[in-house]
Amino acid sequence: MLCNLCFCIFLCIYLAYSYCSNSISRVCHDTFIHNNNNNNNCLRLSDEAMRVAVVYRLGCKSCEPRTCVCDKAISARGLHGLACRRSGPRHQRHSQFNNILWRASKRASVPAMKEPAGLSRDDGKRPDGVMLLPWAKGKPLAWDVTVPDTYADSHLADTATTAGAAADKAANNKVAKYRQIANSRICVPVAIESAGTWNHQAVELVQELGRRMTAVTEDTREATYLFHRMSVALQRGNAISFHSTFTTK
Ligand SMILES: [Zn+2]
Repeated sequence: MLCNLCFCIFLCIYLAYSYCSNSISRVCHDTFIHNNNNNNNCLRLSDEAMRVAVVYRLGCKSCEPRTCVCDKAISARGLHGLACRRSGPRHQRHSQFNNILWRASKRASVPAMKEPAGLSRDDGKRPDGVMLLPWAKGKPLAWDVTVPDTYADSHLADTATTAGAAADKAANNKVAKYRQIANSRICVPVAIESAGTWNHQAVELVQELGRRMTAVTEDTREATYLFHRMSVALQRGNAISFHSTFTTK
């Protein structure tokens, strides 16, 4: 694990960078930086995951330029792994978010089911999870997770000028996708960009889950811990996706 001095140096650089960045005006839950001295192993990043998180955020060189296993060129920044079509770990990152939300729902005494079948008879689309008790306005909540890549060519023109543009676009696509079940469920898109920016519905969902968990456990830090878990899961997933682009030849 990184020593305290290294961590403090990174924290100073990161905060200075964030102050100058337009992402400061948006909710950007990179809360992993606040809890890496936590003794809870579930909320810690390995040295390598922290290195990848730092170099991505600061725009530094992360590796030697080379060719990916999918035959695309990878620059010294190594961002290709976040969106590589051959990167299996991208799906693990998605399932990790889904598991965290499912467990949080259970902890808030609202049982939930992952990938329920039969919600929409017309198109057969399945959200990532649905709660089995009413959440608000007499309706259960259904969520669907997506992790758009901030640095993907298709998003870069928007994300370079508007923090969270990729998350908002992905969230709107999810809302359109689940229009059929919106009459019977509250559909919440959870769009978390690879650079750490969330769509506002996801933030509100986690805050509300935290509030309901606190009502059960009487621990007022539930929402904070939930943000931490999601944030750490993103950085771990990014690091694994980054490493998946290396060939073993
Ligand atoms: Zn690739």
